[in-house]
Amino acid sequence: MPRQVGNLRGRRTSLVALGGLTLMLLLCPVTTAEQFQAIPTTQCPAPDNPDPLLGPRTRMPGRWIGRGAVKPDLPIVVMAGHADSQAMASAGTPGFAVDKQRQPPMDPRMRDELYWNLQVQKAVVRLGRAERLNISAYTPPALTILNDDDPRTNWSQAKKRSARGDYILEIHFDAYRPSGFGSGLIPAINRPLNAVDESLAQAFGRFPRLFRGGLGGPRRGIGILEIAMLEPPLENKLRNPNTRSQTLDCIGERVVNALVQGIS
Ligand SMILES: [Zn+2]
Repeated sequence: MPRQVGNLRGRRTSLVALGGLTLMLLLCPVTTAEQFQAIPTTQCPAPDNPDPLLGPRTRMPGRWIGRGAVKPDLPIVVMAGHADSQAMASAGTPGFAVDKQRQPPMDPRMRDELYWNLQVQKAVVRLGRAERLNISAYTPPALTILNDDDPRTNWSQAKKRSARGDYILEIHFDAYRPSGFGSGLIPAINRPLNAVDESLAQAFGRFPRLFRGGLGGPRRGIGILEIAMLEPPLENKLRNPNTRSQTLDCIGERVVNALVQGIS
């Protein structure tokens, strides 16, 4: 869910692999470590539309194209959406599980969207560094900062860092249906659009450049990446401890692949 302007603030799916594993366990009660290793654990579903991992792309697509070239050592700053706006109107989506299924939040201090934004932020930075990207995280020191212009907010940091040429990527999950739109990039509106914007839009989908009249983040140089709507089946895969880290890695891999493609 993007924060509004204003003062208020390749492969086969792992399911098939799991099915095969279950069958194998049933057929061969004595399994060795070697047999377990034969089943790849790092494979992620190949991108598609609708996407097997992320679900549908935004139902309101944009028409912009990012053409500007970027340096190979482009500094990329990854932020978690709503990291400084908890307990405020702009706290982010609670997600389908909490809102509709009365599940407890993942962390009582924050909306589930922020919980997952932070997890994806971590995965993207870790995997991005492994790919030798010039990538880092920024996370505000408090979960609630009332003044947007406080120098510690995502917005203030983005404004400052974007002005010196850093690429600011803020991770979000969109609301569940019917109010959610789906995955996609809401690009920055304070600078010309570039190859990284284009690459992320090709991987995730693209929102109109002036989505909702131009949001506060994009005005300050933030590219808002709506990973997906926070609803099943993706939300269940994130909440299930057995599939969580694999799912986060697959999401992180999607983002990092797009970043790598954009700067090369
Ligand atoms: Zn959001």
